[in-house]
Amino acid sequence: MTDCLFCKMVAGEIQPDVVYEDDEILAFRDVNPQAPVHILVIPKRHIATTNDLESEDAALVGNMVLAAKQIAVQEGIDERGYRTLINCNREAGQSVFHIHMHLLGGRAMGWPPG
Ligand code: AMP
Repeated sequence: MTDCLFCKMVAGEIQPDVVYEDDEILAFRDVNPQAPVHILVIPKRHIATTNDLESEDAALVGNMVLAAKQIAVQEGIDERGYRTLINCNREAGQSVFHIHMHLLGGRAMGWPPG
């Protein structure tokens, strides 16, 4: 998608601070971090929201979680704990319509989330 911010990152038109990459996934630091560690894990293929996931995307979503787990080790937050979440649509706070898993850590998290 030519007008998608995260597709531009995948295409190399915008260079984020990449912490992980493989054939199907890119992960980079959030530009407006909400915790000492705040990383976005995205599929390279454009999928707008979790509502658009199909059953054949199961492995991709699982691999996003596994990538987040590996990045948590890299960032040294795996033992302390971290949070992964995907916002879907406006009421949940989704602002970029290319699915992304937030990986947050490095501080104690509150619950329920805002
Ligand atoms: P969400 O609100 O769940 O859609 O999350 C979108 C996230 O993308 C926000 O946390 C933004 O700070 C982040 N973001 C927006 N633009 C950029 C960018 N150019 N580089 C890195 N992160 C970004």
